[in-house]
Amino acid sequence: MQDPAFSAPGKFFKGNLHTHSNVSDGALPPEEVCKRYRENGYDFLALTDHFVGAYGYPITNTLPFRTNSFTTMLGAELHSGAMENGEIWHILAVGLPENFDPSNSPRFTPSEDQESGPEIAKRAYEAGAFVAIAHPEWSGLTMNDARSIAHAHAVEIYNHGCEVECDRGRGFYVLDQLLSENRKLTLCATDDAHFHAPDQFGGWVMVKAEANEPEALLDALKAGRHYSSTGPEIHNIVWGSETVEVECSPACNIAVLGFGSRTAGKNGKGITHAEIATNALSHSKWMRISVTDENGKSAWSNPVYRDQL
Ligand SMILES: [Zn+2]
Ligand SMILES: [Zn+2]
Repeated sequence: MQDPAFSAPGKFFKGNLHTHSNVSDGALPPEEVCKRYRENGYDFLALTDHFVGAYGYPITNTLPFRTNSFTTMLGAELHSGAMENGEIWHILAVGLPENFDPSNSPRFTPSEDQESGPEIAKRAYEAGAFVAIAHPEWSGLTMNDARSIAHAHAVEIYNHGCEVECDRGRGFYVLDQLLSENRKLTLCATDDAHFHAPDQFGGWVMVKAEANEPEALLDALKAGRHYSSTGPEIHNIVWGSETVEVECSPACNIAVLGFGSRTAGKNGKGITHAEIATNALSHSKWMRISVTDENGKSAWSNPVYRDQL
């Protein structure tokens, strides 16, 4: 079975799903943020300012900054309710309607009289957004927190801002355990750029769609027709019953990951094609691919489920 991100019609569009402007706590105006992404080879951008009262519950309007070859998706980073550590939730919502009702979140302090994290995630999901659990490692997310979010499409497994500013940018530990608990989730790499630090152009998604238009991109993201990257490209993945074939830009490691400690893989130099036996993962209900190059940059596929193969 060819992986759905590659079998889908259309082409890959590069985008960043998590970004801030000076409408909330970012350094630059929305127009300048869009311009910089456009000039750095991105096809689309979601500006996701912090949805709190102190900033006027912004769904930042980026429509004026669309061009023939660059589009934007409306979105926000939602904050409401406390995680187990007592801090407020961060939920990424891309594809929100511009009239999404404000939460009761004046500041980044959780309170009893506001929606819980799971409730605001559900509201965004039902409003049509692509919902991701943001930066689990940075947040100090517990597995109980993660399990409580029933309405999410994805886990943010790489957050460039968290990586470059404090070395807490990953989210695989949470994602892989949720997958092993039979949750169907995809993954996304993002920048979470604020432009106060070199937190831009480091983590992105490649979305396979028939047009670089917000609706087509949103549908593709919700259906998992994308992969995530900090550098390498994945050109094709074909899942067989006992092997997987991967084509990619030159890599030094291609890994197949699954339940518990189950993995398989291939190491070498400049690998652009590999066929890897997956019998070590025969008891895993899910598998995903990771590709790493000699600079330590990686690309990650979404999981597939054994009952699909
Ligand atoms: Zn955040
Ligand atoms: Zn953010």
